[in-house]
Formats: sequence, structure tokens, C-alpha cells
Amino acid sequence: DDKPLSGKVAVVTGASSGIGAAISRQLAAAGAKVAMAARRENLLKEIQDEILKEGGEALAVKCDVTNRAEVKELIQHTESTLGPVDILVNNAGYWVIRCMKNLHEEEWDQQVDVNIKGVLNCIGAVISGMCERKSGHIVNMSSENGKKAFVGFAVYTGSKFFVEGMSRTLRKEVCKDGVRVTCIQPGDVETPGYAHSLMTIEDKQCKPLYTYPFPYPIMEPEVIAQAVLYAVTQPDHVAVNEILVQPRENP
Ligand code: NDP
Repeated sequence: DDKPLSGKVAVVTGASSGIGAAISRQLAAAGAKVAMAARRENLLKEIQDEILKEGGEALAVKCDVTNRAEVKELIQHTESTLGPVDILVNNAGYWVIRCMKNLHEEEWDQQVDVNIKGVLNCIGAVISGMCERKSGHIVNMSSENGKKAFVGFAVYTGSKFFVEGMSRTLRKEVCKDGVRVTCIQPGDVETPGYAHSLMTIEDKQCKPLYTYPFPYPIMEPEVIAQAVLYAVTQPDHVAVNEILVQPRENP
């Protein structure tokens, strides 16, 4: 039919919450068949039901992106059920607001594992297929933290700088193979993860810096989903490489 993503297969990681759930809904509404991945399968199933009720197509797949074997299974299952992956949205992310000198090294590991290795695991599972088919789109959820520093976000910021640098290089490597690479850079978005991270700050140096709720309107997850939709619905010869979207009052 005439929907912009009819016939396309998309994989969205971190689809159980916030921005990833909104992206899944909007890609499905635009006609894509959407494989939704996250660890909390019950939440995925609820969103899958909503999408099916709206007449869309969606698949809920339990997957921890830090586990390379599970990610390979996610892609194999998606391809055998829905078809070859046209769009990968690397949205799963994790952060804790804390200064480095307090040495919560297990939190550093988890941020590196999800935000860096998780993204690599997913790209590794789809990139050769996309290049062979001469078509594909990888959308990486970066952040305004991928461009500037905020106290309490050192490892998270480093992980998003990684995503930015890796994406720029990958884009140059695969542009002639028909593959596009987009980084989305959101500012403050109202999501469960965001609220949780701000309401549970333990670090005395960080706590006064981040008040919640914010004294200005922040963005709805749907705003970021719109940015993803814009990037993945351009004509074949057009690449939307970056989109920075922030609340008007916090540029
Ligand atoms: P939420 O915490 O609300 O959602 C995070 C999602 O990531 C959940 O679906 C969670 O699913 C998933 N996830 C976390 N760890 C893993 C894992 N190991 N394997 C699979 N999935 C995982 O956060 P947001 O929606 O706010 O964030 C989404 C993305 O947007 C992140 O990459 C974040 O860095 C980025 N971002 C967010 C901003 C904001 O203000 N909210 C601003 C800028 C960027 P589950 O727990 O079920 O596995």
C-alpha cells in the first residue's frame, strides 16, 4: 500500500520503554514490520499488542544487547520471521549520574557494555547483509551528550562520543554499498529512564545540578520518533546524517 515504510523490516532495541517504544509505534504506523528488542519481554508484549490493534505488524523479542549471541539470534529470528533487516535503530541505552572520582566502576562497565558494545553487537549482526543487498539504514541514538560535557555523565558522554565517531567512520565505509548511518542527538526527553536517573541521584556534587521535574518543558518521546521517521523516509540518494533536537529553553 501507500505507507512510506510498507514492506520494510525494522529492528528497534530498547523498545520496551521511552524513546524506543515511541519509535516502534511510529515505524509500525508508517508501515514497517518492527522487531522490538529489550530484556523486559512483558513490556514488549504490551506495546506489540497495541501495534497489532492499530493494524501494524510487530514482533517482541527478548534480547540483552550486551550478549552477542543473543543479538545474533535476534537478527536471525527477525529475518526468518519478517525478512531481511532494512532499518536497525540502536536505541537501547543506560546511564547513571555520578562523578568518576566516586569510583562506581561496575556502573562504568554497564554503560560501556550497553552503549558501546551493545551498539557494536547489533551493527555486527546486520552490516554485512545490508552491504550485500546494497541497501540498509542504521540509526544510532546518540545524545546531546555526544557533543558536549555534563558533570556526572563522563562515561555516558564518552560512550556517546564513541557512537558519534564510529558512525562517521562507518558512514564513509558503507555509503557506496547503499547503506546510510544516522545519529540522533536528543536533549532532555521525558522517559521512565530519564525520570528514574534524575530522581535517584546519590552523588552530592551532581544532585544540586539536576532538578526534577525541570523548570521548563522537556520533549515527549514522540518528538524523537518523528526525527527517526524523517531520517528513514528520505529518497535513496539522501542521507540525514545527524539530527540535534533539544527543548527550546535548554539549547
Ligand atoms: P529508558 O530507560 O526509558 O529506556 C531504555 C531502554 O533501553 C529500555 O527499553 C531498556 O529495556 C533498554 N535497555 C537497557 N539496557 C539494555 C540491554 N542490556 N539490552 C537490551 N535493552 C536494554 O531510556 P530512554 O528512552 O530515555 O533512552 C533511550 C535512548 O535515548 C538511550 O540510548 C539514551 O541514551 C538516549 N537518550 C535519552 C535522552 C533522554 O533525555 N531521555 C536524551 C538523549 C539520549 P530493558 O530494560 O527492558 O532491557
